[in-house]
Amino acid sequence: MSARSVTILGATGSIGASTLDLIEREPERFRIKALTAARSVAKLADAARRTRAERAVILDPALYADLKVALSGSGVEAAAGEEAIVETAAMGADWTMAAIVGTAGLRPVMAALGQGATVALANKEALVSAGALMTRVASDHGATLLPVDSEHNAVFQCFPHGSAERVRKIILTASGGPFRGLTRDEMAGMTPAQAVKHPNWSMGAKISVDSATLMNKGLELIEAFHLFPVGADKLDVIVHPQSVVHSMVEYVDGSVLAQLGTPDMRTPIAHTLAWPERMETPCARLDLASVGRLDFEAPDFDLFPALGLALDALREGGAAPAILNAANEIAVAAFLAGRVGFLDIALIVEKVRSCYAAPHPASIDDVLAIDAEARVRASQVVETLSR
Ligand code: NAD
Ligand code: MG
Repeated sequence: MSARSVTILGATGSIGASTLDLIEREPERFRIKALTAARSVAKLADAARRTRAERAVILDPALYADLKVALSGSGVEAAAGEEAIVETAAMGADWTMAAIVGTAGLRPVMAALGQGATVALANKEALVSAGALMTRVASDHGATLLPVDSEHNAVFQCFPHGSAERVRKIILTASGGPFRGLTRDEMAGMTPAQAVKHPNWSMGAKISVDSATLMNKGLELIEAFHLFPVGADKLDVIVHPQSVVHSMVEYVDGSVLAQLGTPDMRTPIAHTLAWPERMETPCARLDLASVGRLDFEAPDFDLFPALGLALDALREGGAAPAILNAANEIAVAAFLAGRVGFLDIALIVEKVRSCYAAPHPASIDDVLAIDAEARVRASQVVETLSR
């Protein structure tokens, strides 16, 4: 069997590093075509040298010279710029990991899907913003979209093809994040350092903050809506602090199927890498006797308003999810920069949603224009709050 060619978009992040870790354990099975990153030249060059990648691409053109120096003598081709990332995504790897954070990953993902490629999707923001357009391009080009998000990967594993009409509910589990059990007043004073300290998962800063507000689960409801054809009214969330049950599918006969495992993203990533086969991972094995108990509780929509905001956007459809997502990206960045408080994140999203509506996007350019306008509006709200 010849080695599968792999491209990793967002290779220097948390998901990118986990993907590389798995691939480097089986070098005869995979061959790296390209790796991309935003600004971490040293990390990108090191990974490209180690894996003998064909190409390494850095987003920031000002870093091109540094990347060239870091790759000199390695035989790895250096490239830079946003267009170079999109072109690289369209190079036609057998398998592409979409692990850029935010709607910045949208055009590269669309380029890969347009090649009829197999795309392992971690970049949920792209799907939230452009859902129907993205799934249509995938089906038009015969591309395969494999969910990496642990919940969606769990549902995918419990959801044999074609069984949608026999599904009563898809139940996404939520850890509840680092602020579960706090009062609103306590949350108000929480710092970025406290917000990114997730109890179960080690992840990038943006998704860690989303987990603290529960916007992550809201985005995941929209993500599930596009990945699994059951309709919004059949999607549910339950808080499960141990993050052992990664999600569940309830069928009309009363059967509930769940996928379980220790909280390590290398398990869902490996599932998409080996799919439809399986592969070994170094993940800690699940030992239920030592876990002891599994707890479940209903989410608190009053304490975590982001969840309700996401549900509203899901039900409204059209441009609403793109606006929600863009406003959230700006709000989270402002929180991480110390410009606004933790509770301001949902407030900013709510304000942008209430003052800005747009027609149903008919193209990716429409989505990007809506995204850009929502970012401007959100930045204006940030200004008023941080004064
Ligand atoms: P991260 O911040 O650790 O990494 C992001 C990667 O994208 C980096 O390689 C960075 O260089 C690159 N990048 C950032 N901005 C970019 C831009 N504008 N253009 C091009 N590249 C850019 O993030 P992460 O935690 O690895 O998350 C990546 C995606 O996967 C997110 O959409 C996140 O929601 C999703 N996800 C992550 C996890 C997790 O455990 N980390 C779990 C589920 C889903
Ligand atoms: Mg998830």
